[in-house]
Amino acid sequence: MGKLIIKNGRVLDPANGLDAVRDIAVEDGRFAGIGESIDAAGAEIFDAAGMCVAPGFIDMHVHLREPGFEYAETIESGSRAAAAGGFTTICCMPNTLPVNDNATVTSYIIERAHRHAIVNVLPIGAITKNSAGEELAAIGSMVQAGVVAISDDGRPVMNARLMRRAMETAKSFGVPVIDHCEDLNLSAGGDIHEGIASVRLGLRGIPGASEDVMVARDILLAELTGARFHVAHISARHSVEMVAFAKARGLAVTCETTPHHFALTDSDLIPYDSNYKMKPPLRTQCDTGAVIQGVMNGTVNAIATDHAPHAGSEKMQEFEKCPFGIIGLETAIGLTLEKLVHTGKIGLTRMVELFTNGPANVLNLNAGRIQTGAAADLTIFDTERRWTYDVNKSASKSRNSPLDGHEFRGGPVATIVAGEIVWMFI
Ligand SMILES: [Zn+2]
Repeated sequence: MGKLIIKNGRVLDPANGLDAVRDIAVEDGRFAGIGESIDAAGAEIFDAAGMCVAPGFIDMHVHLREPGFEYAETIESGSRAAAAGGFTTICCMPNTLPVNDNATVTSYIIERAHRHAIVNVLPIGAITKNSAGEELAAIGSMVQAGVVAISDDGRPVMNARLMRRAMETAKSFGVPVIDHCEDLNLSAGGDIHEGIASVRLGLRGIPGASEDVMVARDILLAELTGARFHVAHISARHSVEMVAFAKARGLAVTCETTPHHFALTDSDLIPYDSNYKMKPPLRTQCDTGAVIQGVMNGTVNAIATDHAPHAGSEKMQEFEKCPFGIIGLETAIGLTLEKLVHTGKIGLTRMVELFTNGPANVLNLNAGRIQTGAAADLTIFDTERRWTYDVNKSASKSRNSPLDGHEFRGGPVATIVAGEIVWMFI
């Protein structure tokens, strides 16, 4: 592998406090230098004039469906969708078949990713065996095998005593616990957020409280155990307030939100269109406002997509029978620019932080910044490029996006993993 110089880009590297036009030199897949003008003799040149150049974006919450549901997504296809969305690292949730609840499955995923993925894939292990919420999974051996966190995502851990033990175990192995915060008794049977929209459509509702009570319980358990606790896909107003409260108390509590949870509300949903059915559900303007406030004031640590591919046959059933979730890797940068940056709510530095050192800090990854000698992962994006999302051209194997046909202003331009351009907009 030779030398690559990314020239004249606006380099945004929040972890190093940098926002300036710079050249970046990459040699043998690693960062070799950064400066105002680097001699490019003999090197391949990427002219990034007018574009933003950032440390590689990290999506800490995706579902890759392999092993077990390869008809909906594979590690390879998911990694291609990630690259097309500007992500250089993705963390995959354990709800595969079998569930990633032991080191054998963890090693299998890492091995498959090594061979087939075009971006970095970091597995997340289950909290409980089969994510059934009854006994703890083999957490220690999974951490040794390479999981970066534990989660039963898709489900909460309903038993508080078990969650306490999970937090104690995770703490001793130095990984965070990510909870899909949902009280299943409160949400049972619900399809969309409980409110005016659910009444109007005659659908059963999922109250914001089903998320809030679990966030509250987990914060208390995090205080009790001293564990690192991370709220997945935060969507409800009181949940955001409670995370802010926990942070003010100095607890190791963090949270992520998804682009659809700050970009869409339950009044945007097209009746009975399953591409608007996800968990947590799209909530009200009031909740969205609180999530955006949390993004602005630092309560929210990361933007993660919760990319959840489902085959067409699954999503084309009656609304009540459809699985929850939408794909999101390819539209995340576009939606974030549209709803947060172009509206003036946050600046580009904060946006980059939410995709880079924000998630890297949550997971304690040595990534999300430009450092000499480290693997050269970079995300190059343009804040102005107009483009239209065509879900039928998605690199994902699934098509379940509510953003098909959406016109974006700004999006990814190139994705560089270990010095190699793995995706480029053409
Ligand atoms: Zn979830």
